[in-house]
Amino acid sequence: MPPRTPKACRQQGCSATTTERHGYCEKHADKAKGWARGRAGRGRGGRAWRKKREIVKTKACGLCESCSKRGLVVAGSICDHIVPGAEGGDDSLSNLQWLCKPCSDLKTHQESMRARARASS
Ligand SMILES: [Zn+2]
Ligand SMILES: [Zn+2]
Repeated sequence: MPPRTPKACRQQGCSATTTERHGYCEKHADKAKGWARGRAGRGRGGRAWRKKREIVKTKACGLCESCSKRGLVVAGSICDHIVPGAEGGDDSLSNLQWLCKPCSDLKTHQESMRARARASS
C-alpha cells in the first residue's frame, strides 16, 4: 500500500501534518478521540441519556405520566420520547416523559401504525 498523503492538521493554527484518518497530528490526536467519544455519547445507553432518564423519572415522581392524566397512579419504568425520533423528536427534556410498560407499548404500537401509514402513502 502506498503511504497516505500527509494533510494539514485539523487543529486551527497547527502547522503539523498528519496521515491519520481522523485528520489530527500526533500532538492533537486526543482531540480526535474526544470527537469520537462525543458522538458515541449520544443516544441511549450513554451517560448523558441515563442522567436525563433520571431527571424525567424524578420529575414524574416515578409515576406513569400517561396514567396520571387519567387519574391513575401507576409506577412507571420507561423513559419515552413524546415525539419519536422517526417523527422529528429529539432527546431534549421537553420531549421526554416517564411511562409504565403498557402505556409505552401502546404508544410504540401507535407509532408503528403511523409509520406504516406514512410508508404506504
Ligand atoms: Zn496538530
Ligand atoms: Zn401508564
